Amino acid sequence: MPVPGLGAYDPTNIFARILRGEIPCKKVFENEHALAFHDINPQAPIHVLVIPKSPYISLADFTAQASQAEIAGFFRAVGQVAKELGLDEAGYRTLANMGLHAHQEVPHFHVHIFGGRPLGPLLSRAIG
Ligand code: 5GP
Repeated sequence: MPVPGLGAYDPTNIFARILRGEIPCKKVFENEHALAFHDINPQAPIHVLVIPKSPYISLADFTAQASQAEIAGFFRAVGQVAKELGLDEAGYRTLANMGLHAHQEVPHFHVHIFGGRPLGPLLSRAIG
């Protein structure tokens, strides 16, 4: 069920619960700005989610509200995670779904990292 990318932050969302340690995750990286863990339903041989530690609903919310240090720290972490996963040489794709049309499902900003095989065209051809 897609969620709006703006509005009040819901502290009961699944990634907020992972951040609080209420739900387990397969963690691959953590620093002061970001937590990265394997997606529960991987769409590629490597499918990792990187989330900011602070409560932002979406990319729109994060880029409008987060401090320069949070934004820089978060996106550096995305690059570092991909590098540590060994994806720099063969390449990888990042994706951030924002809001209803992108079918964002979890209302805590996250960047997907996909890799481990050729990833095909950017967007599904099945959707007009
Ligand atoms: P979105 O559609 O919001 O961009 O992506 C949400 C992602 O979160 C999906 O790829 C989904 O598989 C993943 N996800 C949903 N619930 C959980 C969970 O409890 N644990 C983990 N690791 N991933 C989850």
